[in-house]
Order: sequence, then C-alpha cells, then structure tokens
Amino acid sequence: MKPSKGWRLLGSIKWRVFTACAVLVAVVLGVLWVFQTGLLNTFYRSIKVKQLQSCMQQIIKNIDDPELDSLLEEISAEKQLCIVITDETGFVLHSQKEMRDCLIHRMDALTYVSAYYLTLKNGGAYFEQTQQLWENDKAETAAEPAQTGDGTKLLLYMAVTAQADGSPRFILLNTKMFPVTAAVETLQVQLTWITAIMLVLAFLMALLLSYMVSKPIRRINESAKQLAAGNYQVTFSEGGYREVQELAQTLNYAARELSKVDGLQRELVANVSHDLRTPLTMIVGYAEVIRDLPNENTPENIQVIIDEATRLSDLVSDVLDLSKLQSGAETLQVEVFNLTESIRSLLKRYGKMTDYSITFQAETDAWVKGDPLKMTQVVCNLVNNAINYTGPDKRVALRQTTAANRVRVEITDTGAGIEPSKLNDIWERYYKVDKTHKRAQVGTGLGLSIVKSILDLHPGTTYGVMSELGKGSCFWFEMERQDPPLPEGKE
Ligand code: ADP
Repeated sequence: MKPSKGWRLLGSIKWRVFTACAVLVAVVLGVLWVFQTGLLNTFYRSIKVKQLQSCMQQIIKNIDDPELDSLLEEISAEKQLCIVITDETGFVLHSQKEMRDCLIHRMDALTYVSAYYLTLKNGGAYFEQTQQLWENDKAETAAEPAQTGDGTKLLLYMAVTAQADGSPRFILLNTKMFPVTAAVETLQVQLTWITAIMLVLAFLMALLLSYMVSKPIRRINESAKQLAAGNYQVTFSEGGYREVQELAQTLNYAARELSKVDGLQRELVANVSHDLRTPLTMIVGYAEVIRDLPNENTPENIQVIIDEATRLSDLVSDVLDLSKLQSGAETLQVEVFNLTESIRSLLKRYGKMTDYSITFQAETDAWVKGDPLKMTQVVCNLVNNAINYTGPDKRVALRQTTAANRVRVEITDTGAGIEPSKLNDIWERYYKVDKTHKRAQVGTGLGLSIVKSILDLHPGTTYGVMSELGKGSCFWFEMERQDPPLPEGKE
C-alpha cells in the first residue's frame, strides 16, 4: 500500500529537520522562560544575600584595622549599603549612610541593644528583619524583608564579633532590593518576541538544511531510477557532503559493474548462439543428406555428425564451466595433492587417444595445494591447445621443474607461435588469434579463459606464455610447493 501524501510529508526530511529544530528552540526558550521570569526574583535575592555576607566577612576580618572607617566608606559606596557598628550598649562607633530609607540609621540605642541580644541568641549572625520587629519584638516569626512605599524591600544583616582585646562589636548592614516585577514583565514581552522569531528562524533553517541534505539525495534517486530502467551509462553526481559522495561512488561502481555484466551477457549470448548454430547446421545438413540420399550413408558423413555433436557438447560444458567459475558459484575443493602424478595419469589417457608424441619430464614429484580436478583441467586445456596448434612434427613437451618452494609446469609446442601483440588477448573469452585457421574451428575459444579463471582462484599461483613466431609457444604456470601429507596413522 502506498503511503498517503500526508504521511509522506510527515516522513520527509524537511518535516523531520523542522521538528528537531522546533523541539530545540522550545527547550532552549522553555529554560529561558523559567530562569528569566519565574526564578529571577530568587536569583536576585540570593545574589544580594551573598553580597551582604561577603561584605560582613570583610568587615569582621578588618574589625581591628585603624583604617576601618575608610574601608567601610569604600564598601558602602561600592555596594550601595548602610553600615553601623555599635558596642554592646548600643553606642554607635562607626556609621556609613548610603541610602535614604535606611532602617538601621533610624534605630535608637535601645533597639540596637535588643537587636544585639537577638543576634547573640541566634548564634552571632542574624538575617532579614521586618520593621515590625523593632515595634513588636517578634524576631523569630519575621521572615519578609521590610518594604518601602515603592515596593523596594530592605535587607538587613547583623552579626556580633569581638575585637582583639575581647570587646564585642555589633555590625549591622542594610541594603535595598528593588522590585523585579517590571523587569519580569519586560522579559516576558521580549521572550514572546524571541519565541516567535526563533520559530520562524527554525522553520527557515529547516527548509535550508533539508534542501542542502535532500538535494543531492534527490539527484541520486533520479539517476538510480534510470539505472533501474536499464540505463547502465548513467553517472551519479558526487557533489554534496561526504556520505553522499561515498554513496555516489558506490553506485557509480555498481553501475559500471552492471554495465560490464550486461555487455558480457550480450556478448555471451551472441557468441554462444553463433557457435551453437554452426555445428547444428552441419548436423542437420548431413543428417538430411543421409536421409534423402541412401548412398551418402557413409561412415565419414556419420563421423561429421558425431564430431559436430561432440563439439557442441564440449562448447556447452565449457560455457557452463566458465560461467560457474566467473560467477563464483563454483567453489574449489582444495587439498594437498601430487601435481606430478595427476599430470602423469592425464597424459596416459592422451597416449591412447592421439598419434601425437607427448613427453613429460619431472625431476621429482611435487605436491601443491589446490583443487586436483580443476588443476587437471588446466593442464588438459593447455595440452589440448598445444596439440591443436603444434607443428607438423606433432610434438608436445611437458616439463616440471622445482626451485626453492615453487613448482613450475611448462607445456611447449612447435607450432606457429603467437604474435607478441596478441599474447594478452588470448586469455579473453572467445578470442581466437587466427579465425580462418583450420584448427581454430576445433576450439571453442574458451579454453584459456577457463585456465585463467581456475589459476586466478588459486592464491599464489602465477602463469603466462612465451612464444616465438615460427618456433612455437610455451605456456607455463607456477605454484607454491607443499610438503606431502603424512601417510594415515603416522601423525
Ligand atoms: P581455442 O578453443 O580457440 O583454442 P583458447 O582460449 O584455448 O581457445 O585459445 C585462444 C586462442 O589462443 C586460440 O584461438 C589460439 O589462437 C591461441 N592459442 C592458444 N594456444 C595456442 C598455442 N599453443 N599455440 C598458438 N596459439 C595458441
């Protein structure tokens, strides 16, 4: 079932990026709202309290300093607070007045004394008092700072300390806390605007980002559709960010490979159908002649039919072998086996079948690791070629040499040789050097590509051909030598 348009939009990269941006904006703004409006008063107050505490610490530290007055003046001006220091009888020793509606400069000696004892009772420091305290003496219940007419609150901090000579000193600090309501209202309006602007920006950002992210993907998608439709020449544009570049490179590689496979398939179909048709035409032709003309029912004519049928059968099995090898469907049955022995037993079969002189020289038996059947096929194909292309002396020579840990097998004929420029091409499928050559009709043109495919599947194996025009060719391959396996029961 195809997803509806709405669902497709929701699943699009544009929508997802926008949602992500919107969530980010919402979280950031939410945190800002809480901190800027809800907690502003709490923050302001705690900053003020900390300020008072640190001033108090500074004064207590310098209580014996002869320059105390100038220090108090400095603190009071800088921090905008009033300072009074008295003795235990309420006698004012130092005083700094910075604010108009100050609380501590309105107190009389008696109030100082009662505040002094209240502070002592509280453990030496007392914080935040309302005006009622001084009227009703209800210190413990009073929690809110005193308020002036315009809503400004007064903070009071008192502490008792002793001078070096032991005489007690009562320090009172008083500062103002301005109302934050106006600031909060301003911030709320600002934040509303910021929220709206940020949402618009998030939307624009989502559009831009999704455009940047999705444009190269859309381009690749277009090309992929063409590839799916069978246009293997299509190229995937590699512009954009790294991931897209890598994707485009992979797809370009895939397209090239598909195009190669497609070309090979066409070539294979064309070649195979051509190669199948020729012997079939011969078979049908000869069979018709034998049917229609009783005199033509000769062993020679029947031999032509048998030869052509054999050629067909060879061709079909070669094509199958090669396609299995090249598609990777064929897995090797690897074992350590006696290569020399397998060549010997192969040549025994030739001895019975041909009137060619096939010789084999081997100093010693060599063991190799590989698929014995496939390696025999390699030697068999090379020997077949040598027989097919050797000179009139009908001689084919096989030689096995060993050096260090390698074994080399050479198959030499005395034929016309191969032109140096063609030495690379002969390993290709269906390649025949001389298409008019009588012998060329014998082969399928697949023998050497089967050899190449099999040898390529054996790691560490090298192969090649040396050829001299008019003198003959020498096909060779080299493999790593292995130790012969121990006879069973002797491990
Ligand atoms: P074919 O079935 O035609 O022999 P191959 O793949 O075995 O196919 O060989 C490809 C071509 O290489 C042959 O058609 C032939 O032209 C050339 N060739 C192979 N072996 C020899 C050789 N021993 N001497 C000369 N030419 C050879």
